[in-house]
Amino acid sequence: MKSLVVLASLLIGLSAQAELKIKQFPDDGRDYRPGVDSGFETYRTKSMLNTKKVVLTFDDGPHIINTPKTLDVLKKYGAKATFFVLTENISEKTMPIIKRIVQEGHILASHHHDHQNNNGKSEAQYKQELEKTVTLIAELNAKFGGSNELYYRFPYGEYGSGKLDYHHFNVMKEVSNNVFQENCINFAFWDIDSLDWLSPMSEKDIVSAFRWWKSL
Ligand SMILES: [Zn+2]
Repeated sequence: MKSLVVLASLLIGLSAQAELKIKQFPDDGRDYRPGVDSGFETYRTKSMLNTKKVVLTFDDGPHIINTPKTLDVLKKYGAKATFFVLTENISEKTMPIIKRIVQEGHILASHHHDHQNNNGKSEAQYKQELEKTVTLIAELNAKFGGSNELYYRFPYGEYGSGKLDYHHFNVMKEVSNNVFQENCINFAFWDIDSLDWLSPMSEKDIVSAFRWWKSL
């Protein structure tokens, strides 16, 4: 994965969920079907477009240079964000950044263990990686005094392919029950992709990407 940080976007439903303490996905007791239950609007998806609320999210870190720079800017403006990190990037070297994310009041969340498209994985592989990533994120949140809510975002927003014989949400419910004894993994998509992972993108390009999304 070449793009290192930062996908800033409006996060669907996250702040609303936090306020209401309602688990958004996946629904309890529902059997999700590959190739049928997919897309962004099938579920209780909440868009934040035109709500005058903004939730900033950053994907694909922690990165040794870019994540601290992002944290510095957030600190300067007194802003809070959610960091969907790849747990394969967590090491002794990046652990101080994870600690900083949590202790500066941001939400530490999972963007899966690696950044591969999960539609290309077997059920056993997806399950094993999901367990690994959510367990580690929960442990680190507990260790550094972070949120006890677990948030998760699929790499590329990809899941539920009809080519598979399982659906990721069913696995997510199973893992959640095994690891947390409840249906507690909340997952999130996005409204706006700032496209800053494209290279080269100037500040002006990123602003125009935001305007383009808003115009849709
Ligand atoms: Zn990503």
